[in-house]
Amino acid sequence: MKKTIEELTRANVRALVPYSCARDEYKGKAATVFLDANENPYNAPYDRYPDPLQTELKAAIAQTKQGVGPENIFLGNGSDEAIDLLFRAFCEPRQDNVVAIEPTYGMYRVAAEINDVEYRSVLLDEGFRLNASRLLAAADGRTKLVFLCSPNNPNGNSLDRGEIMQVIDRFPGLVVLDEAYIDFSAQESFTKVLAGCPNLVVLQTFSKAWASAGVRLGMAFASAEVIGTFNKIKYPYNVNRLTQEYALELLRRRQDDVKGWVEILLRERGRVMDLFAKLPVVREIYPTDANFFLAKMTDAAAIYRYLVEAGIIVRNRSGVALCADCLRVTVGTPEEDDILLEALRNYTER
Ligand SMILES: *Cc1c(COP(=O)(O)O)cnc(C)c1O
Repeated sequence: MKKTIEELTRANVRALVPYSCARDEYKGKAATVFLDANENPYNAPYDRYPDPLQTELKAAIAQTKQGVGPENIFLGNGSDEAIDLLFRAFCEPRQDNVVAIEPTYGMYRVAAEINDVEYRSVLLDEGFRLNASRLLAAADGRTKLVFLCSPNNPNGNSLDRGEIMQVIDRFPGLVVLDEAYIDFSAQESFTKVLAGCPNLVVLQTFSKAWASAGVRLGMAFASAEVIGTFNKIKYPYNVNRLTQEYALELLRRRQDDVKGWVEILLRERGRVMDLFAKLPVVREIYPTDANFFLAKMTDAAAIYRYLVEAGIIVRNRSGVALCADCLRVTVGTPEEDDILLEALRNYTER
């Protein structure tokens, strides 16, 4: 039996009367004189507080996502804000718990620890595959959230669609599916099934395929009820005006650029992975649907240090479960990637 969003929500959040900003109160009437928010009237348009619900931007995003209306969208300061809000809205500290795949993106655990919520991780198999039954065996009556990530970080593979669907069907709480890398993948986004899955929360971001990590804009897609709960507890002006304008511009005028970048990166990924496979320091390369790949090395720690000395930074994942001796490499420009490849060709074990 599914739990209702109301049942899943913390009692204090359910009871909360949200901060009412000055602009909430006159709604619907056409106004031209704004003397309500103690703004300085000079320096338009940045003198004014931004739209707290990002109405225009959400409308533009909804147009690009099948099955998603503006009421199904939350925007925040990176996906990280949505991850934190999930804990704050639904997890009672020291009582509730969450279940996540392992290895995966590190922020779920950090957000759990910040919010003092027990984090239960379940190992993927040695091919980084998800088994829904094994994952759900770690859940109990106090498990509020399950975290999945597909394509997954740090290895880049997509989780099996059928297994994801089973988790969504069988878990009584909220299933959070992080699709930060979906635009690099041939897999369909789960936003398309959102209408039929009231317990699904899909995360996406402008940080990866949209090449805008610097502006900090993350998206959560979910039922209007979940989004309403986020809106109740978020900072009123969590997405600033510069970011809203910038993202609108991207959506209106630069979608072809984004598609082009993705194509270039996917082609480059193939080139770099082929050349990587030929390096004596590389033992295995794992399949990926993202703009990075995981490679098992002869000695990841020593090679990582050698690369840092050469001014080349990759991610050392050798301390992570199932990733012994692995480096995670982001696909860059051909010039950047050639510098890395050349350095690895010149590496001699010492
Ligand atoms: C990079 C990444 C994000 C993006 O986080 P932002 O806060 O939106 O920059 C989210 N999830 C995963 C798995 C990532 O790798």
